Amino acid sequence: MDVRIYETVIGLEVHAQLLTKTKLFCADDTTFGAEPNTHISPVTLGYPGTLPVLNKEAVRLAVKMGLACHCELESRNYFARKNYFYPDLPKGYQISQHTTPICKGGYVRIGIPGEEKKIQLNRIHLEEDAGKSLHDKTDEFTSLDFNRAGVPLIEIVTEPCISSPEEAVAFLNNLRRILRYMDVCDGNMEQGSLRCDANVSIRKWGDKALGVKVEIKNLNSIRNVKRAIEYEVTRMQELAEKKQPIVQETRSFDALAGNTFSMRSKEEANDYRYFPDPDLPPFDLTIPWLDEIKQSMPALPEQRITQYMQAFHLSRYDAEVLTDDRETAEYFESLTRLTPAYKAAANWMLGPVKSYLNEQSMTITAFRLKPVVMASLINLVEDGRVHFSTASSKIFPELASGSSEDPVALATRLHLLQTGDESQIHEWVNQALAKMPDKVLEYQKGKKGLLGLFVGEVKKISEGKADPLLTNKLLLQKLEK
Ligand code: ADP
Ligand code: MG
Repeated sequence: MDVRIYETVIGLEVHAQLLTKTKLFCADDTTFGAEPNTHISPVTLGYPGTLPVLNKEAVRLAVKMGLACHCELESRNYFARKNYFYPDLPKGYQISQHTTPICKGGYVRIGIPGEEKKIQLNRIHLEEDAGKSLHDKTDEFTSLDFNRAGVPLIEIVTEPCISSPEEAVAFLNNLRRILRYMDVCDGNMEQGSLRCDANVSIRKWGDKALGVKVEIKNLNSIRNVKRAIEYEVTRMQELAEKKQPIVQETRSFDALAGNTFSMRSKEEANDYRYFPDPDLPPFDLTIPWLDEIKQSMPALPEQRITQYMQAFHLSRYDAEVLTDDRETAEYFESLTRLTPAYKAAANWMLGPVKSYLNEQSMTITAFRLKPVVMASLINLVEDGRVHFSTASSKIFPELASGSSEDPVALATRLHLLQTGDESQIHEWVNQALAKMPDKVLEYQKGKKGLLGLFVGEVKKISEGKADPLLTNKLLLQKLEK
């Protein structure tokens, strides 16, 4: 089968749970993992006579995400009822935005500069979540938990402009990073606060019209989004090769088997009978409020990467790792205000700090070494007073595990400061050379490259304390005589 004749077309629909304390239309708690049915006021349960009241914070978070994704904001907004019958939807309708999504258009960048691509968004709209049906609590019944009903979501819908599973992964990673940076959503796919449906079709290269699409549900990790799309594209290509029709349907991904299977076809699709919700008055976004939100937004990863490359002369890769989460970026930026050694600060973050946090399964937020102390440790090395390997293996762990001692005092107490004491270094040089007489002979016969080996040996014997310049000078004196 020659699969190169087909182009893959993907559009994603991503639901992100907003990080508000309370639900979209009432004061019920939104905390995940509570005892079932403990966050269920009469509004959540849709009792007759209750009235929804819009949560302003949810609107603010949706606006923030829209601004971060370069969307156009709708000034006049209203909510619509999307009617359908389902046990986890007590009202019999979901409150959503239908014809006026709060954010229109916009894009998320993926890839590297020069080869970057903008993934175009169709819209971002606000809606409430449904409850949860639990099918495995008892053999006989399905159990219902309404804690999640009414929790605020934004749905982010892309245009059908994603061309491969890899692009879908890059888009989701970047989107999740933006959501987290903005404190809009915690991005946790296992807990369901970020969910993705993938729409997939294929067409012959050069064809203008889109092919028949399939929507894949139940993708609970970015890896599974990739696996599901890959499986689906292959399935579609095989059907096309056999001249069999691709039917428009909703499919589910089975993560264990690694395949997709049909859930329902287009004929079974609902008619949602949308209409404006009469209980919720339209709401307007005012210019002063939008300005206030803009002012409150942190710099985005993309802006920070550019800044790190230009102002701190870091490689793109280093800048990307440092900006992967906002807390790490902010820690690094604190360091750059405390020491002019930007490159060294980056190397400390990417080396000892990163390894330490990994070993301790800890995030930077829990890291006990404050930037001021970290900066003075960096300066100690930059000033040539302590060797980097000594600082990272002996001083850093003490400080990271909570020592409140000043790095200089600590280095002094542990006798780790480099010394310029000539007679002391002399002794180390003699010891080093005495250890390898044959290498000394080789050097004297002309193998000058061995100098590095001797320097290394002195460093080892002195535990990094020998001043490197003086070491070089004394070694040369000794070897060249
Ligand atoms: P629906 O009304 O079935 O939900 P929409 O037009 O609203 O369809 O699109 C839903 C999602 O499906 C969007 O992300 C869109 O980009 C994507 N999509 C639409 N048509 C196709 C297609 N032919 N191939 C792949 N994705 C598509
Ligand atoms: Mg859809």
